[in-house]
Amino acid sequence: MEPDLDAAARCLVNARYVIALTGAGLSVESGIPPFRGPGGLWTKHGEPPMNGYQRFLADPRKAWEDRLNPSGPMRELWDALAVAEPNPGHRALVDLEDMDILRATITQNVDNLHRLAGSRRLLEIHGNATLIRCIQCVQRFEHDEIDYAVLPPACPLCRGLLKSDTVSFGEPIPPDVLTACGEETEYADCMLVAGTSATVYPAAGFPMAIAERGGDLIEVNPYPSELSSYCRVTIAGPAAEVLPALVERVRALRAS
Ligand SMILES: [Zn+2]
Repeated sequence: MEPDLDAAARCLVNARYVIALTGAGLSVESGIPPFRGPGGLWTKHGEPPMNGYQRFLADPRKAWEDRLNPSGPMRELWDALAVAEPNPGHRALVDLEDMDILRATITQNVDNLHRLAGSRRLLEIHGNATLIRCIQCVQRFEHDEIDYAVLPPACPLCRGLLKSDTVSFGEPIPPDVLTACGEETEYADCMLVAGTSATVYPAAGFPMAIAERGGDLIEVNPYPSELSSYCRVTIAGPAAEVLPALVERVRALRAS
């Protein structure tokens, strides 16, 4: 893995505008269970309905009762979220941001760990499980900013319907985030892909767009993925170990 780390570090240092794309593989190392695969929440509890958003709209009060008193997979996810802390992989991305190399992080994770680690330019394309979003004005709120005396709660700003910021199945990606992801992807000539095989759209489209323009993709995943053949460098290993090592290489390269 040594030559790959050096090659990846050179890509990062030589790029004009680097962005990152992260997914569940990064959070697994913080104790957040994945949705799919071995030990996955949906593997154990069954896949959620594909029309989750339509079900929310049909009965938002029931959805809020479930959120405020979660059971089954949601209970398990909330319990894991409550104690999870960012791991060295999350912190390495913040280091790259501090070094003015990484310009933005697009994450498919909803677990808040990038924020806790200190990421500044963060685009949570599937939302953030700890936040509440108004589906009318798209404003986001902390959990304790909202009055739950009457369910479903109303937006403090526009009285619109509030839901979890987590993007449900069948729900459009919030337009502010999707637009920003598209803009960052257009600027980028290098993408660091960590802990995701990037097979779920729209996130899957971002690395492909960069590769098609001749940009460099760097992949950090334990196993080869569908993306691997498009990557300039593929580093096999867990992101929590590889990303800090990569930061050290970048530091060494810059100092030399
Ligand atoms: Zn609102």
